[in-house]
Amino acid sequence: MDVSPYVFSLDFAREMDEKDPLRQFREKFYIPEKNAKPVIYFCGNSLGLQPKTVAAHINKDLKKWADKGVDGHFEGTVPWVDARKPSKPILANLLGALPEEVVAMNSLSVNLHLLLVSFYRPEGKRFKILTEAGAFPSDQYILASQVAYHGYHPDEAIIEMSPRPGEHLLRTNDILEKIREHRDELALVMMSGVQYYTGQFFDMEAIGKEASSHEIKVGFDLAHAIGNVPLAMHDWGVDFATWCSYKYLNSGPGNVSGIFVHQKHGKDKNIPRFAGWWGHDEGKRFLMEKTFDPMPGADGWLLSNDPVLGLAAHQASLDIFAEAGMEKIRTKSELLTGYLEFVIRETIGGPEEFLLITPSKPNERGCQLSLSIHKAGKEIFDSWTAKGLVADWRNPNVIRLAPTPLYNSFQDVFAFGKMVQSSMKEGQ
Ligand SMILES: *Cc1c(COP(=O)(O)O)cnc(C)c1O
Repeated sequence: MDVSPYVFSLDFAREMDEKDPLRQFREKFYIPEKNAKPVIYFCGNSLGLQPKTVAAHINKDLKKWADKGVDGHFEGTVPWVDARKPSKPILANLLGALPEEVVAMNSLSVNLHLLLVSFYRPEGKRFKILTEAGAFPSDQYILASQVAYHGYHPDEAIIEMSPRPGEHLLRTNDILEKIREHRDELALVMMSGVQYYTGQFFDMEAIGKEASSHEIKVGFDLAHAIGNVPLAMHDWGVDFATWCSYKYLNSGPGNVSGIFVHQKHGKDKNIPRFAGWWGHDEGKRFLMEKTFDPMPGADGWLLSNDPVLGLAAHQASLDIFAEAGMEKIRTKSELLTGYLEFVIRETIGGPEEFLLITPSKPNERGCQLSLSIHKAGKEIFDSWTAKGLVADWRNPNVIRLAPTPLYNSFQDVFAFGKMVQSSMKEGQ
């Protein structure tokens, strides 16, 4: 696809859609409707849409359950004891990881706790965690409760980085400087990969390398990164990561999360961890022996047997990612988000009216744009919602818009612009 200068016209949007190699992927999803018209769904950062193949995948396991009962654990093309396994190569691809470094399990907040049990090991002067200010609340509660569990006060043990005065984003050099400044006190650097509020895509490679060079462990919450931006967790040397699958991965509300544990830790049986029977050597699992012997790789962190029905929906969605390929997804994403940025500037006005908090450089963001409207932001947001936009509002004054490349089109972005224009006129 050529990068042509953007034009705010239906012809231009149509032409971009015709040239889009992923255009047929929209058909693979159910698009919700409002007033008998498909909505403009810019909320894939919160809950991705349902792939049409999900029901068939789940029904296959429902039928197997009906037909075979407990024998389903050991029969069929994918016996339930192996339910998580088909997701491994695809997850590995999305994360830039080896298949043995990833596993689908539990939910995000649970996994983050489990990983901190293993990788937040405060000792002597080195007990602090460096993170970004304004992290997603669950992550804040998790870090605070983990340091308290080890006997520290969060105010003392958690160092939060804020943007410079008057700025909205963290500068990479400031993050690296902060790591160097506190290198003798830090046990861990734990941040999001893509920040949920600002949409900033952090330089995980630079952060990972800096932290590792001082033997500080480093982990990322990839909730807003997986399926959105290109990742190379293995090469970046990151110690651990976790994510959820219901945002950009479209696997369904509350569905299974996953973890990444770097190969360098995969064979170390001495890493402290909270153990469960599914993490035990699967060759000996049903011997029901007393002593825990973890499986190598990320599987050694498993606790429970696989959530088969959730994994069926997860697989339906991952198959779509495998078919589309992350490279094509990212190429389209940059164009589509660039077009949305252009349309916002064409229709909402200038710096007196709004501020785009999200970085303007494509390599520093995913598909989400965080738009702060100076006056009557909530009223404007509500009027857009009434006209068929699905996006989200975050207090005090940010609208998050996420055109996702698998099911959003350039015509969606154009329709958004027209809707903004008509609502602005009515507001006058
Ligand atoms: C969405 C999100 C969560 C949600 O956690 P769950 O355990 O899946 O409910 C946590 N952290 C971040 C950064 C998120 O974006």
